[in-house]
Amino acid sequence: MGEYDTIRENLTSRYEEIQSRLIKIMKDRRHVNQPLEKDFAEQATETENDEVLDALDLKIRAEMEQIEKTLERLESGEYGICVACGEPIPEQRLLAVPEAIRCVSCEDKVASGMR
Ligand SMILES: [Zn+2]
Repeated sequence: MGEYDTIRENLTSRYEEIQSRLIKIMKDRRHVNQPLEKDFAEQATETENDEVLDALDLKIRAEMEQIEKTLERLESGEYGICVACGEPIPEQRLLAVPEAIRCVSCEDKVASGMR
């Protein structure tokens, strides 16, 4: 049993959850794309719907990618170590923000640098 088992389990179940949501979106879209006779109003609604699905799809893929990266860090033992200062990231922070790669003070520096 590793130190971050809870986080790993949370991430894994989150990953499965959003993955099945993505599969559902892909199925919905296939349905939407079926060539049917439609009037303009219906077509407009479906185009809008498609855009919403696209945005959601991208959001889910981005989150899945982030979870994959975090799980890789867990596997390699890099997890929980700040990439900026090399200090351990407090567990409270990791539980709140599992994908965190920096401690709060380094994150603050990055955030102020971006302003
Ligand atoms: Zn740091």
